[in-house]
Amino acid sequence: MEKETPFSHLEQHREEIFSWGQLFFRTAELGFQEYSTSAHITALLDQWQIPYEKNIAMTGVCARLGTEGYHIAFVSDMDALPRQSGIGNVHSCGHSIQTVLALSMLKVLKETGLPEKTGCRISFFFTPAEEFIDFAFRDELIAQSKLQYRSGKQNMIAQGYFDDVDCVLSAHANGEKDTLFDIQSTLTGFQAKKAVFLGKSAHSGAAPHLGRNALHGAVLCQNALAFLKEHFPPEAGLRLHPVLTESSGTVNIIPDRAVLETYLRANDTDTLLRAADEADNCARHCAAALSLECRIETTPGYLPLRQSPPLNHILRENILLHCDESALLENVVSGASGDIGDLSFLLPTIQMGFSGIEGQFHHDAFTIRDPENCYLRTAKVLLGLCFDLMTHPKLRVFPENFAEKKSRWLQITQKQANHE
Ligand SMILES: [Zn+2]
Ligand SMILES: [Zn+2]
Repeated sequence: MEKETPFSHLEQHREEIFSWGQLFFRTAELGFQEYSTSAHITALLDQWQIPYEKNIAMTGVCARLGTEGYHIAFVSDMDALPRQSGIGNVHSCGHSIQTVLALSMLKVLKETGLPEKTGCRISFFFTPAEEFIDFAFRDELIAQSKLQYRSGKQNMIAQGYFDDVDCVLSAHANGEKDTLFDIQSTLTGFQAKKAVFLGKSAHSGAAPHLGRNALHGAVLCQNALAFLKEHFPPEAGLRLHPVLTESSGTVNIIPDRAVLETYLRANDTDTLLRAADEADNCARHCAAALSLECRIETTPGYLPLRQSPPLNHILRENILLHCDESALLENVVSGASGDIGDLSFLLPTIQMGFSGIEGQFHHDAFTIRDPENCYLRTAKVLLGLCFDLMTHPKLRVFPENFAEKKSRWLQITQKQANHE
């Protein structure tokens, strides 16, 4: 098969692909509630007679082509965000485009029979709930044992869906105007920390010495956390911004409880985990210094995205079939986060960026300006990458120490509560 063959198949479906684009953009549903999105996806898979599994992590779908050999996973998000106006939802992160990219690739790979002809497998994971929002709803699902994690990909990882995967491909819209694609970019990782300082209340005028002021512990800790930033170089991207979210007491009562919360963000996993330990030390020792008790709660978010250089090398070649170097951005350091970071911790992973949207991310005015780039050109690049991996065994990239990394991941992503 010529490399052009999948591209010409894609071209034949141009109008259909654009119509899916409109359908999925209109079908904007929040994480773990993407029921209509899921139904539209499975209706097409039924029509094309592609086997799939549905209701994974509530609304997720996994469609598979090929039965053995090198195993590629293509991952696409499904969820939208609530409108700022408060009425309805909007696809203001462009996840509907990813759904359409996955469907376009599925259709072409099914028609050409490329996976079977090359003895490879490709699984398309339509993953729910990438946006890290709506905690009350998601925590309730966790309490009912319907989920283990707050994000779609994390649930799928925990359930073992990626255990036999060799590499992970994905794509996300970027906000660029003057370029078409970005590669080898990073996303930051984050954790939420909550430190509860517990003291003893007393009359603040008559007998402050009988109390232990919890607020003093929180204030001391806030200073320690500010000094902590000096322990990390700028490229580590450590960000923390503690907020006093709760304090008891009135002006004449010594507060016996104060709560300090912060997100910790970093560009790499080692920094994130080290900063988390050092932040715990700040809370613990500031509390001890003032004879207070301290309870620390850690809620893991997402891990930083670190992309696979060999996969991006092949991706780059494929991008340059459709544009010149001036249309390509490389090594962008982004302050955003995504659960694709967790997959990149475990497996060789890429997330290419494509331009063609208008307006800001996570804003009601988000629209798709350039469907040609978002759907057609991006799908051709991704199909070209799949073609290379399937037809040239020497280019294939494999996981390293997956079992060890997975047990580490399970450990890192557990919610923790420590009482000092
Ligand atoms: Zn988003
Ligand atoms: Zn997104």
